[in-house]
Parts: sequence; C-alpha cells; structure tokens
Amino acid sequence: MDKYAVIGHPVEHSLSPKIHAAFAAQTEQQLTYKKIEAPLDAFKSTLFHFQAQDGCGANITLPFKTQAFELAHEHSDAAKKVCAANTLVFREDGTIFADTTDGVGLIQDITHNHHYSLRQKRILVLGAGGATRSIIPFLLGQAPAKLMIANRTAKKAEQLADEFRLLGEVSGFGIDQLEASPFDLIINATSAGLTGTFPELPGALISSTTWCYDLYYAKNATPFLQWAAQYHPEQCLDGIGMLVEQAAASFYVWRGVYPDTAPVIDMLQKQYE
Ligand code: NDP
Repeated sequence: MDKYAVIGHPVEHSLSPKIHAAFAAQTEQQLTYKKIEAPLDAFKSTLFHFQAQDGCGANITLPFKTQAFELAHEHSDAAKKVCAANTLVFREDGTIFADTTDGVGLIQDITHNHHYSLRQKRILVLGAGGATRSIIPFLLGQAPAKLMIANRTAKKAEQLADEFRLLGEVSGFGIDQLEASPFDLIINATSAGLTGTFPELPGALISSTTWCYDLYYAKNATPFLQWAAQYHPEQCLDGIGMLVEQAAASFYVWRGVYPDTAPVIDMLQKQYE
C-alpha cells in the first residue's frame, strides 16, 4: 500500500483521511492516508520521518505550508507564485516536489460546482493570511473587475496586494476602512471562525445578488455565514467544496487519476446535516 498523510498542528479535526479514502475506493487505488500532528518546532523532522517510513507524499496544513515550500527541491509554477505548498511528492531519488492546490480547489468549487463566473465581478477577500495568499493569484486569473483584500492588520493586506499587483487589479486595506457598498462575491478567509467569532461589518457590503463564501466549514452555519444571512445574499457557501476540490487536485498530483468530487462533497455535507 502506498502511504500518504496530512501533517499539521492541530490536525485532529482534519477530514482529509476520509476524503482520500473515498477517492481511493472510487478509483481503485491502493493507498493509506493518515493524520500526523507535528510539534510546532519539529515540522521538518516529522516530515522526514514519514518520508523515511516509505511515505509517498503528504498534504501540509496550518501552520506549515511556507516551511513545506521552503524545504522542497522543486516547485510547481502555482507553488512558486504563492510561496507555499499544501501537497508534497516524495520522489524515488529522495527529492521532494511541492505544489499548491488550494487556489485551484476554490476556483473549481465556485466556477464548476456552482456555475458562478468571476469575470468582471467585484470581489472582497477578508483576511490576509496563508489561505488568502494561496487564492489571490487564482482569483486574479479569472479576470474580476476588481479584487480587494481587507484585513484586521491593514499592513498585511497592503503588502499582499503589492505582491500580486502585476497579476491584476488588486488593493489591500484595513477591515475597519471598508466602504459600505455591495460586492458581487465576499470570501471569508479569516480564521475567526475557529474561535466561533466574526468581526461586525457593514451590512451594506451585501446586496440581493451577493455571493458569500466561507473558506471555513463547520457542522452548523459558520459565524461569517450567520452574519451574512441577516442581509439576504443570493448564495451562502462554506468551504467543504473547496476542501474536497483541493484534495482531488492533490490526489491527481500523486496518482495521475482525477476522482469524481460530487459524491464526496455530498457525503461530507450529509454528515453535517
Ligand atoms: P492564517 O492564520 O494564516 O490567517 C488568519 C487570518 O485571519 C489573518 O488575516 C488574521 O488577521 C485573520 N483573523 C484571525 N482572527 C480574526 C478575527 N477575530 N477578526 C478578524 N480577522 C481575524 O490562517 P489561514 O489563512 O491559513 O486560514 C484562514 C481560514 O481558511 C481558516 O479558517 C482555515 O480553516 C480556512 N481554510 C480552508 C481551506 C479549505 O479547503 N476550505 C483551505 C485553507 C484554509 P491578522 O493578520 O490581523 O492576524
């Protein structure tokens, strides 16, 4: 059996083993996939230990995606753009290849699963951490009218916008400086949901045609989607679809087979009902 794992801290909550087991069954691939919690100061040794135990590859999650990028020997173009990796391949010669599939996963969920075109849309991304960094070039690649990044710490949003400005119309500012006018799509990429909170924002950001997408997911409506629902947006989506789509893209990198994501998204959503 080929061995894979997701490495993070914390990792107990991860749905990735369930998703990859479903992909493996569906595509008749012989593999195992487990969770490994790396101590915060020992990502590298944890990863190398798994590689030495005949690991074939790993998904990397919070907070190690930048370290994963830095220790790889070769990188996909996408990983080079975002300077982070969530998918590692352990090659037979001992070298490590790094890719990132978060951005592809988000775009696939929005544009393919939900048939929503991002072309010429006004998009607001809340948060300026690792997830925002991973999705910005992919959002810009869809030719939106404009993309704004708003973050609690304004400087981080400004820096991120500066970094990606060559790829399209993007600006960054503090979450408290948000103009109260509606966006076509609001993406919550803050980690506020992890603590069951969401910052109070002007309701005028949402109109009856706004789509609200939370990268975070939870058994019940996430705090961001609860906040958004008060203003009656056209659509409220959580991050389950992105999670499954980014996993499918990783699975393809490892196995060369693209699994059917719809039944797996359905399975996870039913589990949450
Ligand atoms: P990071 O820790 O890198 O960044 C967190 C961001 O959230 C920062 O911009 C931080 O602002 C902001 N933030 C945290 N708490 C608050 C708060 N109370 N109010 C306002 N802003 C806040 O996290 P990631 O970017 O890696 O992850 C963000 C979210 O995306 C997580 O919920 C994660 O689970 C989700 N995610 C989902 C994926 C999926 O497949 N569905 C894939 C990847 C991530 P500041 O800079 O001021 O500290």
